Amino acid sequence: MTSTSSTSSADLFSRAQQVIPSGVNSPVRAFGSVGGTPPFLTSAKGALLQDADGREYVDLVGSWGPMILGHAEERVVEAVREAAGRGLSFGAPQAGEVTLAEEVISRVGPLEQLRLVNSGTEATMSALRLARAATGRDVIVKFAGCYHGHVDALLAEAGSGVATFAMPGSAGVTAATARDTVVLPYGDRDAVTALFAERGGEIAAVITEAAPANMGVVPPQEEDGIGFNRFLSETAHAEGALLISDEVLTGFRASREGYYGVDGEGWAPDLMTFGKVIGGGLPVGAFGGRRDLMGLLAPSGPVYQAGTLSGNPLATAAGLATFAGLDETAYSRLGSTSRALQQLVADALTAAGVPHVVQTAGTLFSVFFREQPVTGYEDAKAQDTEAFTRFFHAMLEAGVYLPPSAFEAWFVSTAHTPEVLDRIASALPGAARAAA
Ligand code: PLP
Repeated sequence: MTSTSSTSSADLFSRAQQVIPSGVNSPVRAFGSVGGTPPFLTSAKGALLQDADGREYVDLVGSWGPMILGHAEERVVEAVREAAGRGLSFGAPQAGEVTLAEEVISRVGPLEQLRLVNSGTEATMSALRLARAATGRDVIVKFAGCYHGHVDALLAEAGSGVATFAMPGSAGVTAATARDTVVLPYGDRDAVTALFAERGGEIAAVITEAAPANMGVVPPQEEDGIGFNRFLSETAHAEGALLISDEVLTGFRASREGYYGVDGEGWAPDLMTFGKVIGGGLPVGAFGGRRDLMGLLAPSGPVYQAGTLSGNPLATAAGLATFAGLDETAYSRLGSTSRALQQLVADALTAAGVPHVVQTAGTLFSVFFREQPVTGYEDAKAQDTEAFTRFFHAMLEAGVYLPPSAFEAWFVSTAHTPEVLDRIASALPGAARAAA
């Protein structure tokens, strides 16, 4: 007999494990690397979460990025309610799609056209197909520790859950697919140059997170005044390849214009991918870029790409209402909240003698449990994940819900008020001592 009545997280998790692999619909949610029972959530408002056991937490996950205005923000909820009253899905064009595409394009210079999909994974998958069709080449270059969703070609040495569970990639990816993906160390310009010198004519595209945030936050570095993204763009273009900048996580979070707004001086990606914030908590992704490339998509062009629910009216309403809440003051508040939290965490860990480094990309940040800066995946893996696990559980016990992985960014929202930060501040000293 199936029941939807409210029971404890432990009961729900044990039921879930019978019918859903590992009890979850996305791996990191299972608490596999930190251990224990994940709280089953019942509701969320602002910066706070409630679980099935009657506990309340300050949320620093934000559904992994979309909830930039906090949970159940009134304007967003009202927009979705209003849209729902007009129909849940049309499978036909509707005005919200146009307005959302216009909004995204207006914020990011290089975008000329955009297509909406249902997830970041769909966005990167479609961008790869387009890049391969446009160049007539097969090889894709990606960087170790970058995560671009669960696209076959992009799972090798990926970040996020693949990093959390120390997986080299995924079973079930064909040898042919794996052969067409070359993985290089993030930030290694010599490796990029050498690969292009050897195989330039085979490379369709380089894909990179605009600022990697799925092995923790690893901002791209400048060398001789040239940022890594610009270097990639120039190197790829010199050999007729494309650059795909993945802003699914950084988009409209790192800054008002995404990470491109932080780093986009004097260069442009050919294609970009988005997700998370643009759907305000409903399933939306997008890929876009140069008009000539986007024009290759069916029905006007030969590259097929489609979706029953793409451009869904509830999702576009949530995305637009989220953008409406993201004015200049929102980004300056997010920035100061992020900086204040970074300082609180650093102070607590320093006081307890716990080696750590806080890294940022715009308003995004993460905390690595090691002393030295992290410039790539090998560094990220070399942190003290056991110290993180102790810290994580002590924070959870004290009512703060962190990403259950040492390889993830921490997400704040405009609903993380000074009072909310005070609650985090009072949890930190004990958690830092537990980590020591
Ligand atoms: N690209 C990046 C940079 C991401 O962070 C993610 C998800 O975390 C994805 C792509 C995949 O997005 P989704 O989980 O919506 O498929």
